[in-house]
Amino acid sequence: MAKRRSCPLFGRCGGCDYVNEKYPDELLEKYLTEEQFLSRFCKVSPILPSPEITEYRCKVQAVCSSLDGKLVTGIYRKGSHKLIPIRSCPLEDRRAGEILSTIRMLAGRYHIKAYDEDRGTGHLRHVLVRCSKYYDEALVVLVASSFDLPSASDLAAAIHQRHNYVKSVSIIVNTEKTSMVIPENAKEEVIYGKGYIMDRLCSLDFRISALSFYQVNPRQAENLYTVAMNMADLRPSDIVVDAYSGTGTIALIAAASGAGRVIGVESNAQAVKDAEENARINGIDNATFITADASKWMKEKAKEGFSPSVLFLDPPRSGATEEFLAAAGRMAPERIIYVSCNPETLGRDLRYIHRFLPYEIRAIQPVDLFPGSSHIETVVMIDRK
Ligand code: SAH
Repeated sequence: MAKRRSCPLFGRCGGCDYVNEKYPDELLEKYLTEEQFLSRFCKVSPILPSPEITEYRCKVQAVCSSLDGKLVTGIYRKGSHKLIPIRSCPLEDRRAGEILSTIRMLAGRYHIKAYDEDRGTGHLRHVLVRCSKYYDEALVVLVASSFDLPSASDLAAAIHQRHNYVKSVSIIVNTEKTSMVIPENAKEEVIYGKGYIMDRLCSLDFRISALSFYQVNPRQAENLYTVAMNMADLRPSDIVVDAYSGTGTIALIAAASGAGRVIGVESNAQAVKDAEENARINGIDNATFITADASKWMKEKAKEGFSPSVLFLDPPRSGATEEFLAAAGRMAPERIIYVSCNPETLGRDLRYIHRFLPYEIRAIQPVDLFPGSSHIETVVMIDRK
């Protein structure tokens, strides 16, 4: 049964913004944010609420520290380096909480200590857990100060023994003085299992590895992608670009939804590998993936005269670049579907499109992917005039 949406740590932990409020109140606040940044372009449709508002987060990154000689896990208090120990979080997948509890318990037995940044002693900095919503599978990453984590394979086996659903345990080394959990170009050593888990979205299987992007609320992500596909209204004659394609979710769903040919563009090589594998697993042969910076690729292809009929873009929080948008204008697709996780940068990019490109903003559909937090996802349908 879902936990009650309330948390005694609210206000201290800073990991969320609304967990102690009623969900309709949260949605209203988010709708006002959407209106603030976007209503000047087109009417904003009512927010699509999340089917789950507790235990939906399938990715959990816990910080490790020591307290009275014992390993504790939790979150840094917002804007500080002070750890707030967390035993259970109402927003996170229950299995992640179980795994973290086991790791805290086993750390003493295997002499694993939390890494102390100031002294440079100890081992474990973070634990990353990803859970599949569709399959009973989870993946654990021990982010450590070196690959020589004491009794690492015994620990991995013990985690699996207690939680059968743990299909992969790996170590990633982070020696940098950084608040980033996983540094760029990190190397991963799989010490138990296969290095990835599977999830299912919109009737397709997806392989998710430690380092590739995957939506944290897969049930609602399914609704998000369905909204995007309905707006795109794909046909066999369509040539589609999915920019910032991650593990290929949008590209592959588009390829399976009637598009003629799909090209995914993504800068993370591991995510591209996953996307290619995902195409193979699902028997999709009309999608290809390219490892490249999306703006550079768009600019080059626009110069070559390439013109897709539909362009999806799903950039990180910083939004698209002007270079990207200008190239999109030159490619002149009939329709652009912009999926955004940040209404502010989305507003900035829509202003550019509205001012400089011959396109009309036809529909704005917010989708609540992040209940409890102030974040909100938005899908925008943009048609060539
Ligand atoms: N559409 C995917 C992923 C969206 S997240 C999904 O729904 O799952 C944004 C993705 O953009 C991430 O995978 C990130 O690695 C990628 N990315 C970030 N900067 C990029 C750039 N400059 N060029 C191409 N891809 C980039």
